[in-house]
Amino acid sequence: MAEVKLYPVPPGARVATCKSCGSRFVWGKTDSGKSVPLSIDSPHAEPSPETGDICMAPSHFTDCPQASSHSKKPTPAAPPPETGDEKKGT
Ligand SMILES: [Zn+2]
Repeated sequence: MAEVKLYPVPPGARVATCKSCGSRFVWGKTDSGKSVPLSIDSPHAEPSPETGDICMAPSHFTDCPQASSHSKKPTPAAPPPETGDEKKGT
């Protein structure tokens, strides 16, 4: 199980949609104060036990299937997305 760095989701952050993959994210800050898109729909995102809202989420760069188009840096062998819980069709 790969470790996924989670960042705090700012309360009341506006939800945006990734233009590359359509996933929802909010803008948060890294430890160094840089803006970072946080994947609130990620299976790694953690809801607050109090409110149920997502309070911790991974950088969208780590799970966006189009991450290579966001960043100039090459992405290191990203694992394929697991979609086992989204079975559709017959
Ligand atoms: Zn994306």
